[in-house]
Amino acid sequence: MEGTPNPSHKSVRTPSEILFDSMNQSPVKHTLIKSEACDVHSREHIENALRDPIARIPSQFKSAFHKFLYYNQKKYLQQVNHFAQLAFLIYFWADRYVLPDVEVLSGVIRVIAIIGAFGLNFFLFKYIRRIQLLDMVLPYATCLSAILWFEILLNSSNEAVYTYQYAAVILIVLGNLSIQVHFRPALLSSAMITAAVLFGVWRLNVLSDFIIYLFVYVPILLFSIYICWNNTLNSRKTFLRALLDDWNYHTLRKLAHTDELTQISNRRHFVQSANRKIRETPHTVSTSLLIFDVDHFKQINDAYGHDVGDQVLCCIAEVARREMRHNDMLARFGGEEFIVLLPYTVQADALKIAERLRYKMEQQCLNINDQELTFTISVGVSKLDPKHPKLDQLIKHADIALYEAKHQGRNCVVHYNTMNQSEQLV
Ligand code: GH3
Ligand code: MG
Ligand code: MG
Repeated sequence: MEGTPNPSHKSVRTPSEILFDSMNQSPVKHTLIKSEACDVHSREHIENALRDPIARIPSQFKSAFHKFLYYNQKKYLQQVNHFAQLAFLIYFWADRYVLPDVEVLSGVIRVIAIIGAFGLNFFLFKYIRRIQLLDMVLPYATCLSAILWFEILLNSSNEAVYTYQYAAVILIVLGNLSIQVHFRPALLSSAMITAAVLFGVWRLNVLSDFIIYLFVYVPILLFSIYICWNNTLNSRKTFLRALLDDWNYHTLRKLAHTDELTQISNRRHFVQSANRKIRETPHTVSTSLLIFDVDHFKQINDAYGHDVGDQVLCCIAEVARREMRHNDMLARFGGEEFIVLLPYTVQADALKIAERLRYKMEQQCLNINDQELTFTISVGVSKLDPKHPKLDQLIKHADIALYEAKHQGRNCVVHYNTMNQSEQLV
């Protein structure tokens, strides 16, 4: 039943969808948070996470966080991997200039490594959708590069190796700068890159030179870890803000589309959705409409009070909601007037539904201060004219039929098409 505002009937996109779209990524079918999940608790969790100094992502949003980062960071990670591969290859010319005695070894190692890395990258970024894994591709590749590079240095007998080895600090910077998603695995990969670099330096140097190298390496290691932490923290905060935007969007949308008292669609939402439905439905298909109004509702209000009148309206909305089929659109159209669009419904079926509704309402009995309160409704029914498929016309005809039902004594159903010509012109 489409009586309750339904997020699937939307023409407007959520903030996160717009964000994804602006990044030219694949279309995202779902928003970060489902409309049904936008309650005060989820809002509280998001706000607490934003207040948390390390912006921990609440467990229920973890998968949305990874999805968000996948679309947000995939392209960047792919590009940074290609740049790193290119840099690794270009260093061949540096090797060639600085260490001519290992030129061939450097060329062979670099070309084989790049072909392997390129193939692996292509496969991973095409088929793997786990951002946590893609985020770690470059740090692990950097670790491997460190091992290979020191193999080249160890095979050289050139004195320039001892100065040249300092270029290895770039590996830890590159490894840590590329990380966007998870900080703990980043620490592990930092440790691995550091172990690979320091093991290579250890093999190349005597202890005193190794210690001098440490003095250069450690501050850069700490600096790169700090940048890495900032990257991951920013990713978390960006996600949480996008989540909050989506939460606000869904909540405002729900408020704008829902009747506060009965919690079914309001008039504005009905008109939008019904117009869309009529446009989308083939004109060869019958569409009907019901308008029903509580009989002598003013008397109920006067006799029992406005709050009891409100209870009656809620009861009517609930009963009507239960009676509707999946595609029917129910809404509160005005004070004590309700409307239902019945797509794919011929005149005879619309009359049966209207009659069933009228009967169900008549059966309701509210217990008010030990007094039994019953009520009835009158229903006007109309059918869409395939030559003029306009909602306004459909409503106007159902309204005329409802007026006629009131005229006939109330608690009855009248179809516009079965009224005689003079009555139709009222
Ligand atoms: P009829 O059978 O011809 O429809 O008579 P009626 O008394 O139902 O119709 P009338 O238009 O004279 O009165 C409708 C009343 O509905 C007047 C208005 O105060 C009341 N009403 C409108 N909206 C609400 C609401 O949200 N809550 C309550 N309790 N009453 C409402
Ligand atoms: Mg009334
Ligand atoms: Mg009325």
